[in-house]
Amino acid sequence: MSSLLLPFMVLAATGFVLSVAAHIFGLLGKMPPGGSLVMGLHAGIFVVWLPTVLVANRVARGINRKDFWKVVLAGSPPWMRYALYGLFAYAVCNFVLFILTAGGNNHASKAVTPETIRGFSGHWMVFYGGAFATLYSILRAPQLLRERQCVNGHAVSSTNAYCPTCGNALHKQPD
Ligand SMILES: [Zn+2]
Repeated sequence: MSSLLLPFMVLAATGFVLSVAAHIFGLLGKMPPGGSLVMGLHAGIFVVWLPTVLVANRVARGINRKDFWKVVLAGSPPWMRYALYGLFAYAVCNFVLFILTAGGNNHASKAVTPETIRGFSGHWMVFYGGAFATLYSILRAPQLLRERQCVNGHAVSSTNAYCPTCGNALHKQPD
């Protein structure tokens, strides 16, 4: 399982670095080298995000949705989680600003501009960063993927102390 996730983690890291670079170009009002090829990062998200969602859902089976990221990122260092939350907040602000400023100039052309790249790359950073942190967390804590059941056979995640379905206390599993 881990060996399958590693190439996607490397892809996510590459996508993240390229997204940050594209974002810096966008902020400077310049087109990155390769021009509109940068929009390939938009498509690349699906390549890393699909396996990420599949394993994340497996890790988070049987847990409360509000604890989703807490459980999925349990194997990542705290700084990585804070960086991700900060990045998410930044991307939201960045996109709101993009919508507000792009609303003014009503250009019909589909040409990719530094402004478009600046607007979209915030999301790219979050998706690639989120995929990287998730895969990194699971690779560092493979026990997150282990099947686990309560005494009544309900599927529970490796971080639950009580079964979310029947409330039975769960034994701490050996690492
Ligand atoms: Zn149960």
